[in-house]
Amino acid sequence: MSALKQGEFVGSLDCGTTSTRFIIFDKHADIVAQKQLEFPQYYPEPGWHEHDADEIIDTCNACIDEACTELEAAGWAKDSIKVIGITNQRETAVAWSRKTGKPLCRAIVWDDSRTKNVVAHYEHKLATTGLELDGSFRKREEGIKALRKVTGLPISTYFSAIKLRWMITHYEAVKKAHEEDDLLFGTVESWIVYRLTGGLDNGLHITEVTNASRTLLLDLHTLQWDKSLLDFFDLRPSILPKIVSSSEVYGNIKNGALQGVPIGGLVGDQQGALVGNKCLKQGEAKCTYGTGAFLLFCTGPDIVESTHGLLSTVAYQDGPDAKPVYALEGSIAVAGSAIKWLRDSMYLVTSANDVNTLAASVPNTGGVYFVTAFSGLLAPYWDPGAAGLLIGLSSYTTPAHIARATLEANAFQTRAILESMKLDSKKELKHLKVDGGMTNGDKVMEILADIGGFDVIRPEMREIRDPTLWVGY
Ligand code: ADP
Repeated sequence: MSALKQGEFVGSLDCGTTSTRFIIFDKHADIVAQKQLEFPQYYPEPGWHEHDADEIIDTCNACIDEACTELEAAGWAKDSIKVIGITNQRETAVAWSRKTGKPLCRAIVWDDSRTKNVVAHYEHKLATTGLELDGSFRKREEGIKALRKVTGLPISTYFSAIKLRWMITHYEAVKKAHEEDDLLFGTVESWIVYRLTGGLDNGLHITEVTNASRTLLLDLHTLQWDKSLLDFFDLRPSILPKIVSSSEVYGNIKNGALQGVPIGGLVGDQQGALVGNKCLKQGEAKCTYGTGAFLLFCTGPDIVESTHGLLSTVAYQDGPDAKPVYALEGSIAVAGSAIKWLRDSMYLVTSANDVNTLAASVPNTGGVYFVTAFSGLLAPYWDPGAAGLLIGLSSYTTPAHIARATLEANAFQTRAILESMKLDSKKELKHLKVDGGMTNGDKVMEILADIGGFDVIRPEMREIRDPTLWVGY
């Protein structure tokens, strides 16, 4: 048997909402080997969405193992992989035990809206007791403003601290672990790094700054956990991971096919897509259409405070001593998941791609409108109580009209976010760079360009970086 070749490759572990991928790239960013696996989604009650954190790490390990086997089959030695980076679904909250290293409950996924009552409780607290900052309590409008100024965020079901509070209140095991200082909290990258670097055997408890900026606990200006916010949300500081930058060597993988390989980059998936689309400078924007849709507009070194329902967030921090770059973000909870719903629950299509042909078979929606508020509405409305609506139905309505209305819903929500972005940034976007699974659909893109009133630029293939321009639909 001939000796395996040595190369210089980078591994990218992408832990999305519905699947995990491990892709091995060469120096030219061409793919050498890859593996993708879906993992189970749990919807135990209306509006609830859970993951089993052990199943997430199991698919990560399986993807790494199988991609490494493919790499060797292609004639390359495994130790050609010099470093890996991790990108992840954001806001999903994981709680595990310091003593056992095991999850204490299922992870609450970012689009889960069970926490409406937690939101109402803290809104009430903000209105009555207020948020203590610099020795004085800010109440009502002033409190909401102060919270937004520090974190860039409104109080919403979306953010991780609210999900963690729900776990502490409703799961005895999490409550007890919090009381007894046995609780470790993290978002998905935090959990994966903990497990890859050894878990109970000295695994690192860290979180990357773009992920931390989605908790409601991070001060956007100092990039540190804010003590007054921890007090406000009644959380112990010891449960929180150490905050790290998006690019540095954090530690090495302890076991498995990549034993000893350093982890050299972490970033929330939407911020990762912003960088991947080369939106590194002020004024550049992208929208990723996956399960949800996320439009990020780079604001450079400035934190732009939105007055039109957008979030201010960390875009990336290129090393521990680097100055952070910020972004404005508009988040849509339901995008590709509405198509998945048409397929898996309504049986209107047999594959996600079929929705394009079905929608193209009619010239318009025949008066049908679909508000896909399956888990409330995020930006720019922030309405946790909103429910889905399918209106304008008549005996003329066919599945094709509903398919088309679903694609229009996606475009209308994007347009609402772009209008807010225009008002906040005083800049109009003439074109929008897009990526994500939904951008595989031609009709999806055409309707987006038509309703949005802008040109859509999508990669020719999701993995290829050269964009083709979709002009003037
Ligand atoms: P995530 O990273 O959130 O798991 P992906 O970027 O992998 O999501 O995108 C998956 C979503 O894209 C699914 O919800 C699916 O409905 C949608 N999708 C995939 N292919 C198509 C297509 N050809 N047309 C429209 N939507 C699609």
